[in-house]
Amino acid sequence: MGLSKFKDGGPQYWKEKYFKLLDSQEQFEKEQKVTQDLLGKAIVRLSQVTKGFDTSLDPYLARIREVLKADLKNQQLQKELQAFSDAMMSMDVAPSNADASLLFAFLQKFYPDRKDELKSVQTQYEQGQMLDSQSLFLSLAQLLDQTVTAEDEFAAQQALRDCKVIGLGMLGILENVDLPDAFAEDAEQLKLRLLSGQAVGAVFDDASKLLLEVKEHIKAEKQEMADFLSTLTEALTDLGLKASGVNAAHEDAQKKRDNLDRDVAAQMADLQSKSANATQLEPLKQLIGMRLQSISQQIQQHNLKDQGEREKNQRELKALMQRIKEMERETVELKSRLDAAQQKATYDSLTGLPNRQALDDRLAEEIARAKRYGKPLSIAVWDIDFFKNINDTFGHKSGDKALIIIAKLLSKFCRETDFVARFGGEEFVTLLPETEAKNALLVVDKLRAIVERSGFKANGENVSITLSCGLTQYVEGDTNESLFVRADGALYQAKQGGRNQCVLV
Ligand code: GH3
Ligand code: MG
Ligand code: MG
Repeated sequence: MGLSKFKDGGPQYWKEKYFKLLDSQEQFEKEQKVTQDLLGKAIVRLSQVTKGFDTSLDPYLARIREVLKADLKNQQLQKELQAFSDAMMSMDVAPSNADASLLFAFLQKFYPDRKDELKSVQTQYEQGQMLDSQSLFLSLAQLLDQTVTAEDEFAAQQALRDCKVIGLGMLGILENVDLPDAFAEDAEQLKLRLLSGQAVGAVFDDASKLLLEVKEHIKAEKQEMADFLSTLTEALTDLGLKASGVNAAHEDAQKKRDNLDRDVAAQMADLQSKSANATQLEPLKQLIGMRLQSISQQIQQHNLKDQGEREKNQRELKALMQRIKEMERETVELKSRLDAAQQKATYDSLTGLPNRQALDDRLAEEIARAKRYGKPLSIAVWDIDFFKNINDTFGHKSGDKALIIIAKLLSKFCRETDFVARFGGEEFVTLLPETEAKNALLVVDKLRAIVERSGFKANGENVSITLSCGLTQYVEGDTNESLFVRADGALYQAKQGGRNQCVLV
């Protein structure tokens, strides 16, 4: 308590700190939006990683899009998502530049006399002059058609050619299809059998079976992938919701988020390069799962940190609020003490009347008013007659009692607009605004008579007490001083005139 608190560490300091805290509270709401945007970007990156698997991703992507649209109004993000969705729609499942060397080796074995033409087709294919595998097969079919020479050989040639074309097709499929590991060995043997040209029927049968199994396997894997992506989407949605709750009121929150974004971006880039090289769904799926978990952990850690900071911030804010409340209480208390001090400074403690200081202020005001409005103003100066005798005879305490009684009488029997003060010792002053001196004289003389009649009891004895009064009226050019000096002169005359009387000058 005390005035020292209102210097260093005082209300100004605390209030500034409080407002600063409020500002940062506002700031973290803005930062929350930035975090959401970052998360959106992370999700897009993750979506890009899964690009190229299956168009059945689309419903999940649509869900991601909905979540993001609901939570984030980032146009760039929406554009990216749209582009991603478009790309997924037009996804080409066939590999574009598959290695066809085995196919050409097979053909050269079957058609040794067409070695040169085959070589030229192979060159064209390898130089990328053919749009896709379809064009390659078309060119090869045209080339091989020319091998039919004689009419009677037609049927046999036709059958042989069919076998060759089927074998070639199968070899092509085995070469081009990205086979799961489990089938690699079987496929390798089948390729060798197809190349050696042995027991065509049995090889075809085995090859068909193998391809069917591969087809089933891929179908099951795709379903698994779709399920996995569904889980992934749930996780992303969850992360999105968590990010919505992210708050940070710390100055380096932005820096932390930048770090998080960088980490997530690095993980995503890694995933992207790995997925570009991946030939199997399973490892990639595991990789994505692992990375997603790691990203989720990072975001959770980030959230935890933010949560801690937010709680700290709230604790500080609460403490500050308490401090401010405390200070408000102190301020109220101090104000009442100041009021008391003010009262003390302007009121006389014995009689409760305004003191000389208050009289000076009031007299100046009344003079100004009288001057401005041209209204009359009278002033009466009172002095107790032979007061010294009262003190001497009955004691100082009785003297005080007399002063209190006179103060009460002077206050009680004047008008509300009049002003009574204890000027000092046993002297009082009454100001009578808007009162002509001759009317004032009637008033003060009535007061003098009341005091004379009242008397007071000292030590059980009735003691009479009288007042002398000097009265005067404000005239143009009067000051506090001049007015008082004139009234005091009148008082002197009253004393000289025998006391217990009022004199007007
Ligand atoms: P006069 O009629 O000429 O005014 O005579 P007086 O005795 O009143 O005048 P004087 O100025 O000689 O005495 C005033 C006395 O008032 C002196 C002082 O003891 C007394 N007095 C002044 N203030 C107080 C006070 O607060 N309490 C008491 N008990 N006495 C006071
Ligand atoms: Mg006196
Ligand atoms: Mg006196």
